[in-house]
Amino acid sequence: MKIRALSKRYNRWIGVVAVLLPLAILLGLQYRWLRELDHFSERAHKAQVASLLEAVSKNVEYAYADAGQILDLQPTIFTQHQLDRAAHLFKKKGVVGVTSLFVMSLRDEKEPLFFTPSYTTFSLPDDSPEARAVSVAVAPWKALNHRDGVLEHVRLFVEEKDPSFRILLYPITDDSSRLVGLAGMILDQRYFREKVLPKAIRDALSELSDRGEGPIISVEDSQGRVIYSTDAFSDDTDLWRTEARRPFGFVFTDWNIALATRHATAAEVAHRNFAVNLGLSAALSAMLLCGLMLALRYASREMKLSQMKNEFVSNVSHELRTPLASIRVFGELLRLGRFGGVDKAREYGDFIETESRRLTQLINNILDFASIESGRKTYRFERSDLREVVEATLRTFELRLRKEGFRLHLKGIDAPLPTVVVDAGALGQSLSNLLDNAVKYSRDARDIDVSLRRDGDFVVISVRDHGIGIPRGEQRKIFDRFHRVSTGLVHDVKGSGLGLAIVRHIVEAHHGKVTVESRPDEGSTFSIHLPIEVTEPVALAAPAQQEQPSEA
Ligand code: ADP
Repeated sequence: MKIRALSKRYNRWIGVVAVLLPLAILLGLQYRWLRELDHFSERAHKAQVASLLEAVSKNVEYAYADAGQILDLQPTIFTQHQLDRAAHLFKKKGVVGVTSLFVMSLRDEKEPLFFTPSYTTFSLPDDSPEARAVSVAVAPWKALNHRDGVLEHVRLFVEEKDPSFRILLYPITDDSSRLVGLAGMILDQRYFREKVLPKAIRDALSELSDRGEGPIISVEDSQGRVIYSTDAFSDDTDLWRTEARRPFGFVFTDWNIALATRHATAAEVAHRNFAVNLGLSAALSAMLLCGLMLALRYASREMKLSQMKNEFVSNVSHELRTPLASIRVFGELLRLGRFGGVDKAREYGDFIETESRRLTQLINNILDFASIESGRKTYRFERSDLREVVEATLRTFELRLRKEGFRLHLKGIDAPLPTVVVDAGALGQSLSNLLDNAVKYSRDARDIDVSLRRDGDFVVISVRDHGIGIPRGEQRKIFDRFHRVSTGLVHDVKGSGLGLAIVRHIVEAHHGKVTVESRPDEGSTFSIHLPIEVTEPVALAAPAQQEQPSEA
């Protein structure tokens, strides 16, 4: 029972927690998953880039794979001093991509003999930079030859001390692994740039699955200058976003292969995706929360409304039953002739009349409310004199006010006012409701002021009491249907909570407004502001100031 009461009380918060908690967990999980995905895709991308650059480097190495075979000459050429035979052999093997080839016998340590592929004969070295580079390259071999000259493993050596002349060297050994000579080639750098590189990169890229626009592969020399790129517009290198670079592994080891993109790097795209996904989820959650809050608000409003409706039914039943019971008793007394004299009979009659009027007003309010709610409420607007409307309404209250000892003060009732277009019946009912409240909520105070005045383009009817007043926070809500101020004082007074809602509806149908000024324990002033038609001939005076107390 207690749990049920608690859950009813905190139902809104329970609802919020019930959704908020799974939502937060879901968001947390999604965050973790997206983070992992982000890391994973970044790592995967890095691995892919690395393997692509590796493939380019390997393809370059393959391009020179047969250099070893070309340079692998018979040791007898060197031991039997037949170096000129090498020219014939090189030619037979077909050599491309070199500026020159050379052979050198380590037996007699003569200067190397050079051979350019376009010439068939050797030439002795001149003092060219090329010859100097070769003599630097062979120097360590000469030294080795002087030591013991034994070389266990023969393979192709790369000599790049002078970046202008990249040399591939092949040591020639005899059957007892003794060095007998050297064969070498100087690589043609132009051929490397124009033939070897494009093919190596093309082959590596062809292994790549479709990557849309594709990356830019470029090659940078030792100074970082781009000497080759797959991007036709290589002038825009500033716009490239380099993702990775690595040096060549075999020849041109001081040069780098770089991979770049034109726009965002893959890591940036992954991060952006991460942020977008998370942002979307957060936005979705926020929307869900807003929807939930709205639904909860709506639900709690509906609950409050149904609670107010219940109260309304019990209040109205009470409001109906009490006067009906009195009417029945006084009617019976009259029927049985049990009254002391004519004065008593009049008093009973007065009572019956007053109570019937109150019942009529209550029933009118209920009927009006029903037609307002169903949108069937209609008005008959006619040019009317407000004074007459006010006076007619006050007449119906006269008896009650007198009986209950109220003093009614009228202000401005004699001052000339413009006629306005109103539904006199509906307006009378609004005023009745305000007067009824003034009486109901006056407590011990016995003065009620009703004033009629002009205020700019409006005619204003005000009803002021000196009763219990209304707290500031409640002053807007009291115009809502069924709303009753929940202080103990109000509970002593029965009511339906419909009166002011009907007043507001009627006044707004007249394009006017109803306002309240009130302070607790000091009283309240309700004012109905009705617009004067602009076309109305202004033949009327300013609001009257003098007060006309009239004791009801
Ligand atoms: P009710 O039938 O309860 O009087 P109303 O719609 O006429 O319904 O008024 C709504 C609530 O506004 C009342 O329950 C009361 O709390 C408050 N109220 C209205 N008029 C006055 C007033 N003159 N003085 C103090 N409180 C008032």
